[in-house]
Amino acid sequence: MQSFNLNNLLRSHILNLTPYSSARDEYTGKVGVFLDANENPLGSTTDAGDYNRYPDPHQWPIKQRLAPIKGVRAGQIFLGNGSDEPIDLLVRATCVPGKDNILIMPPTYGMYEVSAAVNDVELIKVPLTPDFQVDVETVLTSITANTKLIWLCSPNNPSGNLLQADAIRTILAAADHSLVIVDEAYIDFADTPSWTSELDNHPNLVVLQTFSKAWGLAALRLGMCFASEELIHVLNKIKPPYNISAPTQTLALEALNHEAEKNKMVTELLEERQTLVENLRSLPSVQVVYPSDANFLLVRFDDAKAVFEHLIDKQVIVRDRSKVKLCDGCLRISVGTKAENERLLDVLSHMKNDTVSTNLPLGPGELASKPELVSNA
Ligand SMILES: *Cc1c(COP(=O)(O)O)cnc(C)c1O
Repeated sequence: MQSFNLNNLLRSHILNLTPYSSARDEYTGKVGVFLDANENPLGSTTDAGDYNRYPDPHQWPIKQRLAPIKGVRAGQIFLGNGSDEPIDLLVRATCVPGKDNILIMPPTYGMYEVSAAVNDVELIKVPLTPDFQVDVETVLTSITANTKLIWLCSPNNPSGNLLQADAIRTILAAADHSLVIVDEAYIDFADTPSWTSELDNHPNLVVLQTFSKAWGLAALRLGMCFASEELIHVLNKIKPPYNISAPTQTLALEALNHEAEKNKMVTELLEERQTLVENLRSLPSVQVVYPSDANFLLVRFDDAKAVFEHLIDKQVIVRDRSKVKLCDGCLRISVGTKAENERLLDVLSHMKNDTVSTNLPLGPGELASKPELVSNA
């Protein structure tokens, strides 16, 4: 790609920005008398450990451990406080409010639109086709000279499917003055390689992944952004200096020793997904179970509202997507444990006849997660 030039994409004040230089940037030695960061030298007000020192602002041990696992160079990795952080930083680095725009393809993950709105940046929406693939022709004619970011989510949330590689390739080639971001939050559940292998071929490619899904570490808040060293350098310049807490860094580094366990959980969840698909398809109230490359299913019901409310009533919480473009009548259902999925199916199959006593595999106190904690996902 001859014409791509990152400097033309960045806001001019970001290009010339002098970043905050933290105490931990200016002296990187590990031993000494540290009187440089106004920390409390006496210790921490907790018995849970010593947290009185600021964490590594660049998280090098994690990046060095992650690089061979992901097949990238450590300098191509940015770590954020969840994926939400790089999503927002990319907007702030590139988009001038009132001038530039961002292109998204609904139905898709809500944070791209929220980040555009928070930053007062115009949003161009090109809906996916009814089978949730990219409308390449319309995307190509909708890109303007001021389109800075093009968001692709693959596997897509909430539809669950991978986007066709040819479509992504066409957009990468055509959009040579935009960043093309492929959000791969669910890539571990898909039977396809990551776009990270294409980073060196496409300077405009950015890939997002997360520790929140397959790795089972949503509470740590750790998102991965893979891109050219040049772009990663810019994100590092504008991030808050200590964006990843010390406990998160310690636990993530330890988790990277357990990749086999992550893979084992993925295998189990994929088996559960298959069972869930088959059982849901046999229910009379279910119209469509869309094919999924992720750890959730988009399901169209005859009466989604009634099903959603009935499930809530029985303390089974799913996501109502029935008002979302192309998803009318649909609920989004995460693949749970075997017991949780059985509970879901049990409640659904007895819905018509509420008087039938259900055999609860789960007590109310054993619900997997509290609904108020999952509203962002
Ligand atoms: C869950 C999810 C994420 C992960 O967000 P975190 O902030 O890393 O927890 C990112 N993108 C999509 C599409 C998701 O569904």
